[in-house]
Amino acid sequence: MTLLRFAPSPTGSFHLGGLRTALFNHLYARKRSGKWLLRLEDTDRERSHPMYIGNIRESLEWAGLNYDYGPGADQSLGPYTQSERLDLYLKYSSKLLNSGHAYRCFCSKDRMADVREKLARLGSNETYDKACLHLTDEEVARRVKAGEKHVVRLNNERLPKRPEPADIVFGQLKDAHLSLPTDPILVKTDLFPTYHLASVVDDHEMGITHVLRGEEWLTSLPLHLDLYACLSLKPPQFGHIPILLNADGTKMSKRGTGAFVNDYMREGWEPSSVLNWLALTGWGAQHDASSSVQEGQVAGVASNTGAAGKPQEPVVQQAPDSTAIFTMDELINQFDVSALTHRRTVLDSKKLEYLNHHFLMRALDDPRKQKALADELGAIVREALPGCDE
Ligand code: GLU
Repeated sequence: MTLLRFAPSPTGSFHLGGLRTALFNHLYARKRSGKWLLRLEDTDRERSHPMYIGNIRESLEWAGLNYDYGPGADQSLGPYTQSERLDLYLKYSSKLLNSGHAYRCFCSKDRMADVREKLARLGSNETYDKACLHLTDEEVARRVKAGEKHVVRLNNERLPKRPEPADIVFGQLKDAHLSLPTDPILVKTDLFPTYHLASVVDDHEMGITHVLRGEEWLTSLPLHLDLYACLSLKPPQFGHIPILLNADGTKMSKRGTGAFVNDYMREGWEPSSVLNWLALTGWGAQHDASSSVQEGQVAGVASNTGAAGKPQEPVVQQAPDSTAIFTMDELINQFDVSALTHRRTVLDSKKLEYLNHHFLMRALDDPRKQKALADELGAIVREALPGCDE
């Protein structure tokens, strides 16, 4: 069964980009008669807050994006909050330590920062000098027994051979490993995993078949595929969704108001028009087929030949107009991941106004919706003009 996951970190108000990622997960899962789950990635202990979990759930509910598994839904793949799954990550970390794919590093934060700075000054791409890679087993055991704080790092020198990563949206990635840190940290001194280990373990344990997530994680894909290879696990297929831009070309995530789902809820926008607007941003452009990876190819093992060994033409579906109006069922029906562009796209608020107008007109044909709108309007007027209905 196709199973996707939406895995936000509850570290701030829920963003429009997050809502779009959730929507694409929903559309992709439903299109394939599959399911999706909500997983809360709260391994950043300083920044995570339960208040933001509430905000994510309320936003998804407002938008009508109903996940199949997650808090308040089917519990059979849970727990869905990473801080409740720590034993699992330590189990996988032990596997990596035992097989020599990872090692313990006792360097202090200050030493790590010094080394990183020195290496950068020398013009090196390395970010750590691997000082702890060569500690003897006896010394490691002694320091662990003494309770010395340490992290667990991936051992880049012991990586199994693996192909260049491939992405459903961005295609085959070239030299992708060059941007990775030296021997990335997998477990922190507080015994919490880093995002990388936790997401790989959870995607595997939960049986995720496809990962659709934000472009900001594309650079981590090679590391994730390394982890799958070290653990001899089959990776899911990956697709990264391009970052949303403001009209002036800056990243939407850097914007204050207008970037959070809360703003749209409070201002009374029709959820369906917000979803249409988000769905067709980055979907409305002609897809650049030359670099695409076809669905069905597994990330990391993509090939350009079909079953008969003949090169296959990517299937390109004409993308819909970005102001076309779709119900959720129509969106699901039309959604085709191969029609997603990998270029960053501007979220144009004029289009939302246009879509909202059309959704409201359509809604006014429905007597139940008429009543709901009248009630909403009444509440706004009463708030603005206290005592007006006395
Ligand atoms: N927790 C990550 C975030 O909130 C999502 C990463 C992922 O989907 O793999 O950005």
